[in-house]
Amino acid sequence: MITNTTRRFWLAVLTTLAFLFRNRSLRKWLWVPLLVLGAGFLIPQPMVVPVRDASLTSWNKKSFWAYPWGSSITHKGIDIFAEKGTDVLSATQGIVVYVHEGGKGGKSVMVLGPKWRFHYYAHLNDIKTTVFKPLSTGAVIGSVGDTGNAVGKPPHLHYAITTPFPYPHLYDDEAVQGWKKMFYLNPDVWLRP
Ligand SMILES: [Zn+2]
Repeated sequence: MITNTTRRFWLAVLTTLAFLFRNRSLRKWLWVPLLVLGAGFLIPQPMVVPVRDASLTSWNKKSFWAYPWGSSITHKGIDIFAEKGTDVLSATQGIVVYVHEGGKGGKSVMVLGPKWRFHYYAHLNDIKTTVFKPLSTGAVIGSVGDTGNAVGKPPHLHYAITTPFPYPHLYDDEAVQGWKKMFYLNPDVWLRP
């Protein structure tokens, strides 16, 4: 699968469904996880720019899918530039699924938001949230930094949105890694009024 988060998501869903299906007495409850999955798509997704006081010039619209982009090949998010220490906000309501330190993202936070979309916030200077914490839109989750592979670069938030449910209409046969565009959504689409 496409990202670790997508892989883990499908593992959890399929494990749950298989468990219910295999147990004759539990099989009648199969509709519950399916209903939960369906309901997730109905949750509205009002969004805010995830850096406090950022403006439309704080990120370059063309940075999404910029190529070539080091070991990632293409840039699967946008970089929102701000002074180190500026609040990073949750772009949506959601629940924190992990916080991590290390690797390319440095200090990073993953939030599950409406419609089963996963929101990834990376290169944080510090993390101000915890796993499984429910978040309202605009809640502070950390601050802008230059951790991970942003060391030595101007501080910025790397913000990416992934979906475990592919969107076939986003398939792009011209772009490098264009099939992956079905799994990575362009935040600019929602953040630009
Ligand atoms: Zn980036």
